[in-house]
Amino acid sequence: MFIDLFVRGLIIMIFVSGSVVISYYTTRLMAFLVPFARISEIFLWSGTVVFSAALLMGIAYYYVYHGFGLQSDIVRRKPSAGNKVVMTFDDGPSRDYTPQILKILAEKGVRATFFLVGSHVERYPEVAKQIVDAGHEVGNHTYGHITVPNSPPPQLAAQIMRTNLVILQNAGVYPQYLRPPRGLYDSRMRRIAKLLGQELVLWSLSSQDWHSRATKASITRRVVERAAGGDIILFHDSGSLLSSEGASRKPTVDALGPIIDGLRARGLEIVALQDFMDYPSEQVRRLSG
Ligand SMILES: [Zn+2]
Repeated sequence: MFIDLFVRGLIIMIFVSGSVVISYYTTRLMAFLVPFARISEIFLWSGTVVFSAALLMGIAYYYVYHGFGLQSDIVRRKPSAGNKVVMTFDDGPSRDYTPQILKILAEKGVRATFFLVGSHVERYPEVAKQIVDAGHEVGNHTYGHITVPNSPPPQLAAQIMRTNLVILQNAGVYPQYLRPPRGLYDSRMRRIAKLLGQELVLWSLSSQDWHSRATKASITRRVVERAAGGDIILFHDSGSLLSSEGASRKPTVDALGPIIDGLRARGLEIVALQDFMDYPSEQVRRLSG
């Protein structure tokens, strides 16, 4: 535990100090190359701060969407899946939005995957059952939408196992997939997933529907324009947990029909995660050629 925290702290310190050093010398170089920007203390340090912040944000963004190193156990996208894409919904079930989403998916003949929060399944068991009865897949999104890397080991295991049990008891299926809240996982979670026979599934395209300024138009445009074959697309069907408790997911509901039509018009086929898993992951493909 202590060693784990120490190593993690060390890695973060290396990243921060590394980016500060790089930024400091980049700023010095800029001041040298641009004749009118004479080196002043303020210029040097503000430049360093701005560059380091940008660099660290870039690293964080890369980590969330791509990870570091070989991660064949983590599914983000399947580049070899041709024109197929997958739709996933996090944080539910919700009494308000999940039934509306299920209705649209049924009308359009789309199978999706719902990553359920255990405490929400206990609150709305009938909605969780409705998801499974409609032929959709469900995954585990922890019991209380925890931040995985911060949780003590007993709590992490309990959060995942309790949710598996709650889903099994209320919806009658054992969740095949596991998705850490906000995409923040660690090596412990990877080991637990393996032990429990679950696949760690993240995403490659976020609809950004959690954003407080997201509208039907912005969500639709973002997803339809950016989606490519092999993508796992992230939506949210509950307004709790993200941004604020009780945020409106109406833009997501309104955008769903146009998004499905738009993806299909672009020649993309929307499939269930199950039909996607057999394709090799990006990392495996990279290794083999
Ligand atoms: Zn979530």
